[in-house]
Amino acid sequence: MNKGLKEFASLVSSSLWPEKSSFNNYLHDETLLTGQASLVLFPQSHEEVKAIVNLATSLAKQNGGICPNEYKLTVRGLGSGLAGSAVPQGGIVISMEKMNKLIFVDEVNYRIRAQAGRLTSDIINDAKSKNLRYVVDPSSADVSCIGGNIATNASGPRSFRYGPTGQYVKKLRVVWANGQEDEIGYTTEKYSLGIHSLPIWIGSEGKLGIITECELKLLPPLGPYEEVTVVMGFSSEQEALQAVLNIRQYPEIIAIEFLDSEAFAISKEKWPKELGKSSALLFCIFEVHPENSMFWEKLSADWDQKCTITVARDSRSASNLYKARKSITETLKQKYAYKIGEDICVPLVQMNEFCKRARELATKHHFSIVIWGHAGQGNLHTNLLFQEKEKIQDSFLLIDELGKLALKLGGVISGEHGIGKIKANLKPLQISTTEREFEKHVLQFADPFQIINRY
Ligand SMILES: Cc1cc2nc3c(=O)[nH]c(=O)nc-3n(C[C@H](O)[C@H](O)[C@H](O)COP(=O)(O)OP(=O)(O)OC[C@H]3O[C@@H](n4cnc5c(N)ncnc54)[C@H](O)[C@@H]3O)c2cc1C
Repeated sequence: MNKGLKEFASLVSSSLWPEKSSFNNYLHDETLLTGQASLVLFPQSHEEVKAIVNLATSLAKQNGGICPNEYKLTVRGLGSGLAGSAVPQGGIVISMEKMNKLIFVDEVNYRIRAQAGRLTSDIINDAKSKNLRYVVDPSSADVSCIGGNIATNASGPRSFRYGPTGQYVKKLRVVWANGQEDEIGYTTEKYSLGIHSLPIWIGSEGKLGIITECELKLLPPLGPYEEVTVVMGFSSEQEALQAVLNIRQYPEIIAIEFLDSEAFAISKEKWPKELGKSSALLFCIFEVHPENSMFWEKLSADWDQKCTITVARDSRSASNLYKARKSITETLKQKYAYKIGEDICVPLVQMNEFCKRARELATKHHFSIVIWGHAGQGNLHTNLLFQEKEKIQDSFLLIDELGKLALKLGGVISGEHGIGKIKANLKPLQISTTEREFEKHVLQFADPFQIINRY
């Protein structure tokens, strides 16, 4: 057995070698990419993470300043990523899953502090148990952790109103890839500091180092306001996407999600019957004061003639609508052997054009697609569906073309999943030469020995 790997394993109380069948679980994320590794480490504390990075650093120094491939590190949250950035290319996987402790909830200052591997839905519930709110709600809250959310700047439906994960990160405890440890950020509500490092950790995909703990901002309870889910069924996709431009102007709106005709067709029996004749849906969440009758009058006056409206006024019917929406992914997974979810983002006025041209591209490449997503933010998930393994390579070609289409329409290649391996070749098309230089210099500072998440 490799002596160096054994030394790494001795730094933590728990590790996994390739002989174990569960080892393979750590070689992929939720893309169709699979990698390879020689060892998985499960640190349980900041100190253990620091010891791992320090050992990799000293081995790199002994090797003339470059980390040998067999000791390169890949950081992994819970592996729900959709960009391939946690898929190892050899070396050692650092799984953060055992660093899942809650450190505190500060009810006075509305803060929560936890280890980076804590499940996102646990963070949401920790806040709830103190009558506070953590408002970022990725659909993967039950299968992703807060460190992964920070490293991808994850968002959810309610991010239309409340913004993505990065907006709530007040402090991070980190081990830079260069071996330095740090506590960055401030707990005050505001600060102005010129250039500083916290913002570049948000969405950094593990390339700067490892986040071990985080402190997040919480919000007070909604008070007298209530969340109301409203599903609007339109007779065409174009009408639904056009309506987003109007609905976003309601002061009460917090989420606008779009489902195309395919998504609706395969889940039709799960939705209320009155939506039956619709072709495409908008799944909206509003925060409404119970005495605000004007809201209901306006909603009715604006939309009664243009679409079919279903309102869930209590939590049970809201949960049924949510389940109907969530069932689509499961149904597609049962129906198709392969499903890849893509996540470009375009200006709202370009969503119709994107959907039209995405379908043309899918036809050209012989793929079935279903489109849904966070329409209030122009963030559309094109889901590529297929049965044959041989089509995996072609699916990446289509993803490339969808990314280029988004750029042509004034958009970006990723709204929330990140760049990872899947979109690495597209990133130079989106960013300027100066930005590329900036990234290079930041990485030179953060990871001079090319230790972490280098692929
Ligand atoms: C069914 C499903 C639904 C999804 N819905 C959404 C959604 O609504 N919104 C959304 O934004 N995404 C969504 N995703 C994508 C995914 O859940 C997010 O990208 C999530 O933030 C990844 O978290 P993770 O813990 O699984 O991280 P991983 O997949 O393990 O890793 C993702 C990246 O984070 C890095 N990383 C993880 N932990 C750390 C750490 N402690 N320090 C430094 N870097 C770290 C990894 O190196 C990697 O680059 C969905 C995925 C699935 C499968």
